[in-house]
Amino acid sequence: MHIKQAVYIISSPEFEKCPVADKPEYAFIGRSNVGKSSLINMLCNNDKLAKTSGSPGKTQLINHFEITSVSDLEADQNKKEVIYKWNLVDLPGYGFAKVSMRSRRRWEQMIENYLRKRENLTMVFVLIDARHSPQKIDLEFLENLKLWQIPFSLVFTKSDKENQRTVSKNVKDFLEAMRKTWQFLPQHFVTSAVKKTGKSKILDLIHETNVELQKESQKSRVKSQ
Ligand code: GDP
Repeated sequence: MHIKQAVYIISSPEFEKCPVADKPEYAFIGRSNVGKSSLINMLCNNDKLAKTSGSPGKTQLINHFEITSVSDLEADQNKKEVIYKWNLVDLPGYGFAKVSMRSRRRWEQMIENYLRKRENLTMVFVLIDARHSPQKIDLEFLENLKLWQIPFSLVFTKSDKENQRTVSKNVKDFLEAMRKTWQFLPQHFVTSAVKKTGKSKILDLIHETNVELQKESQKSRVKSQ
């Protein structure tokens, strides 16, 4: 699959102001500076889509993009191009050192509301910096997702910034740390926005999920006729 078009829709200060929930939605979140904007831009082939290195405080908004993606011809049995529409959501990052308690609370409330109430939310991609050993703040965020039963995948970012052995060790250690409280481990991707690695695997997962969702909605339409 590849992305044909990515259009910025709106930035919302709260869940209630988000656009109509009429398409599958994939949200991206992680610690500030984890490489979220760079990853989104890599996935969408557009260097200017999500703003990179936004300053803290100004970025506490839920940013919606409408994506048009196309199945790759060679992968499609019918050799027919199929178009999918879905939303990509850039969520404000956590872990800014210099934000006030008030703005942290506001962030927590906004994120919790969005994640728990957004009915078209299909999957969350949680970004983890591949240069570091497991960080408490990331593991704690995942515990919330467990509590709220939100499906998610992990995306390890900036893998080009460290040698491969260190990256593999950090990934392994992170998954090991999860194992202490998780029965099942999530799917994970190792990426670099500089080297453009991990892109097709993430897009494949989104595509397969969209195909499944479309099949399900067709089935339920037939049933209700
Ligand atoms: P955000 O705050 O999570 O949106 O992070 P950004 O995408 O703005 O990235 C933060 C910094 O890390 C910027 O200077 C990026 O150029 C850099 N960066 C992001 N992804 C990568 C990557 O895959 N490789 C390298 N070497 N640098 C990256």
